[in-house]
Amino acid sequence: MSGGKDSDRRFHRLADSRFRNLYLYLAFAVSILTVIGNGFISNLFGNSVLNLPFGEYSIPASSISGVVQAVSATACILMVIIDYKTGFKLGIFTFLFSIFGIARGIIATGSMASLPGAANCVIFIFVTLLISNQLAASDRFALTDSSTGLPNRYGFERALTNRLSAIGGGYVAYLHVGGFHDLNANLGRKYGNIILAETAERIEDVIGEQGDVYKIEGAEFAIILSETANYESILEQTVDAVEAPIEVDRNGIKVNCFVTANVGVSDIYDRHLSTEEVMMCTDVAMNYAVNHEETKICTYNDALKAKVARTTEVEKLIKEALEKEYFYVQYQPQYVLDGKKLRGFEALVRLRMPDGSIVSPGEFIPIAEKTDLILEIDRYVRRRAMNEFKEICEKTGDSLVVSVNVSAKEVSSPGFADEVMGVVREVGFPAECLEIEITEYSLIKSVENTIANIQDLREYGVKIAVDDFGTGYTSLSQLLNLPVTLLKIDKSLIDNIEDSEINRDFVKTVIYMGHLMNCEVISEGVEKESQLRLLNQYDCDFIQGFVWSKPLDYDAAADVCR
Ligand code: C2E
Ligand code: CA
Ligand code: CA
Repeated sequence: MSGGKDSDRRFHRLADSRFRNLYLYLAFAVSILTVIGNGFISNLFGNSVLNLPFGEYSIPASSISGVVQAVSATACILMVIIDYKTGFKLGIFTFLFSIFGIARGIIATGSMASLPGAANCVIFIFVTLLISNQLAASDRFALTDSSTGLPNRYGFERALTNRLSAIGGGYVAYLHVGGFHDLNANLGRKYGNIILAETAERIEDVIGEQGDVYKIEGAEFAIILSETANYESILEQTVDAVEAPIEVDRNGIKVNCFVTANVGVSDIYDRHLSTEEVMMCTDVAMNYAVNHEETKICTYNDALKAKVARTTEVEKLIKEALEKEYFYVQYQPQYVLDGKKLRGFEALVRLRMPDGSIVSPGEFIPIAEKTDLILEIDRYVRRRAMNEFKEICEKTGDSLVVSVNVSAKEVSSPGFADEVMGVVREVGFPAECLEIEITEYSLIKSVENTIANIQDLREYGVKIAVDDFGTGYTSLSQLLNLPVTLLKIDKSLIDNIEDSEINRDFVKTVIYMGHLMNCEVISEGVEKESQLRLLNQYDCDFIQGFVWSKPLDYDAAADVCR
């Protein structure tokens, strides 16, 4: 078995090698030269017997001619193996040329001695035809995706290479279909395959004559569009078609299924890129689209390249910083609005590299959130904040709160509450002084685990704040079911509180409803006295913002407590 696969691979390597045309024409030259050589041998020696220069041996000239013809035939078969289309044509030409030479010899000499040679040629024509057909069939098989009938990755790479070497223009798109994991799990693979086949059909319907569609991975398609195509509009239509509900018949019951589509596209016009480079660029663009909810179709360009490179660099910096402890924590005071009494601090992570350069959390947190690095950062910040504030909190009792941020990923993972409590006990930190800030967004995702974690933490006495409130889709009634202790009104709402009546009404309502729900309310990002006055009118409990303090290093924060 493995021998067969190896020789297959070797054949593909030969057929796909950069020197493929060179090999082909080399074999052609050998075959033609041997045919011509054979003509000379027949002309010069005819039926005579030649004495060999060593010993007393002699052989008929026709035997040598047979060997030369075998070389020619082998070269022809090699041509067909290298390229079953062109090689086949060249092979047939060689055999016909050979038959023509033999016929001319027979007519000129009147001897039928070389007639078997012509018969050989006819046999070889059949052999060549047979091999060529066989290769065409196996090629079709090797280039086709069995689940959709579309050409596969190998077929795509070939077509792309041909296009790049022929005209060099056009667009290449990768379309990632999401949601199959859940569909397979909920409905079973059989239905997953039906939906995949339907998706392929829809893509083909939209693309039609404007390009070619390939199925390159489990749920990934490639599309090659010509340079005249209005690629943006075509791809938008494709995404719409793929995301439209797919009706499947499940034991007589019609079920509507949904998949998502994200597309990366690169313009290959006039860029002189290799096949690998085009595939890499398109992949980068597709991954960007897959990882950024707001982007459905992403076109590769130099800015994206720089962005991706920076992301990779920041990811490396985060890993290094975790390893060598370059992270540290600043604490931003939170105050009771009426009377400016200290409520506590929000712990905010900071990254300063040894060369003094600062990477802002606005940059590295979203990157860390795409990987599991955010879990490590949050764990580090929690432990450090508890260690640094343990003594102060023990002295002040439960009147001081240290607030830490957790990512949606973490709060929705089973066992999160136990992990937090493990550290609380290990450090000896008073649980009622700890507050966990979850974002409004994490309440939408993986609700079940999140609710369980929140409830467990509350039972241990830990406070729960909902961060960035007002930016997402959580309704207040949704929050009623959760033991949340604090709502943090987002800075974006506070920013416009003076100019926008809608914002004012919203903030007023959130504070009022929050109190009805037994929650306290804090406004964050307060920068002006005038904002403070309005929030005071609306009965907001606490504020956090530059108006009273920026985030402080630990020593400065400890001083504020004295
Ligand atoms: P956030 O949780 O909404 O944190 C508040 C951000 O607003 C902080 O920015 C803070 O410095 C800033 N801020 C506070 N008051 C004002 C103000 O009056 N004016 C202005 N312009 N800004 C103000 P920072 O430290 O850059 O943090 C950005 C975001 O990074 C945070 O937003 C939070 O989502 C995330 N983050 C920070 N530390 C952590 C952490 O340890 N873990 C996790 N998961 N996320 C963190
Ligand atoms: Ca926060
Ligand atoms: Ca916030």
